[in-house]
Amino acid sequence: MKELFLNLLKFRSITPSDGGAFDFIKSYMQSWDFIDVNVGDTKNLIIYKKFGDGIHLSFAGHIDVVAGGDGWDSEPFEPMERDGFIYARGTQDMKSGVCAFLFACKNVKDFNGTISMLLTSDEEGDGTHGTIEILKYLKKNDFLPDAVVVAEPTCDEIFGDSIKVGRRGSINGVIEILGLQGHAAYPQKSKNTIHEIAPHLGKLAGHLFDDGDEFFAPSQLVITDIRSGLELTNVTPGYLKLMFNVRNCLKTTKEDVQKYICEVLKDCDFKLSLKQGSFPFRTDSSSKLIKNMSLCVQKVTNIKPRHSTAGGTSDARLMGQFGIDVVEFGVINDTIHSPNERVRFSEVEGLGKVFKELIKTYNS
Ligand SMILES: [Zn+2]
Repeated sequence: MKELFLNLLKFRSITPSDGGAFDFIKSYMQSWDFIDVNVGDTKNLIIYKKFGDGIHLSFAGHIDVVAGGDGWDSEPFEPMERDGFIYARGTQDMKSGVCAFLFACKNVKDFNGTISMLLTSDEEGDGTHGTIEILKYLKKNDFLPDAVVVAEPTCDEIFGDSIKVGRRGSINGVIEILGLQGHAAYPQKSKNTIHEIAPHLGKLAGHLFDDGDEFFAPSQLVITDIRSGLELTNVTPGYLKLMFNVRNCLKTTKEDVQKYICEVLKDCDFKLSLKQGSFPFRTDSSSKLIKNMSLCVQKVTNIKPRHSTAGGTSDARLMGQFGIDVVEFGVINDTIHSPNERVRFSEVEGLGKVFKELIKTYNS
């Protein structure tokens, strides 16, 4: 397994390139079937084997990584073992996950259904031709899985402490306040956009749209930028642009955000544009997938994992959109995208064991 992991780490699979990794993976999984779903620069690979007529269980991940960048003590694409860790780009995000499911699946002898692996080379980029194209292909061919495990790094401090059962959505917004530029000495003759928005800022900054629930934090308005004016002390601004983001849970929609802002700014001359980057989703805790994954993590690590929805977005949201039960579980996430990204190999081995156990639970 270690050889497989080190081999995967050596491919310079910087988004949207697979760096040659898919050919290597095909030869590693040579007794399985493959479907290439390549679109533009993006390579997508479906690997599957039909053992029987039952459930279709799938593992998903991305082979692409972000660039190495500066500040490394060793080469990002030459895996280096020191003080109990393996250092290389992608050790956590997420060649560990890909290695673990390849290893677990390759060793399956019998299964009551189909097992597949969905791999993309474009997750770290904009992902336009990545997992979404795989899912469209699968839907068209009536081959969508019943349950998907995304092997992104999910643990916080100890391997086994957290599985992701859903993700918040993301709404991006831009407010433009329209006024009239003027001289600072004659405020009555202009319409100062900073003065226009000032009384309302307290109702926008940090506003909670709901109180969240057991699984989700409240949906909060976070201001990311405000700009206006000419960086001069004698000219008042006639235009202001405010940007914000709301990570929303299932209780708040884009329409709720729109309604609230229109109410707060009803006395201003403004334009609002809102874009839903991704939708929130959550897989039911009583579903077979979540229950089995929790038990398998506990069996292998002796830790009862937290059911979390924290963090940014991942391709799991796309499975959620297609109505597929999805869970995320992987190694500790504390050096992703950083210099000296690293993982303990024991975590990668543990992950392989969890996936093997999970496959077993679906076979009985
Ligand atoms: Zn990732």
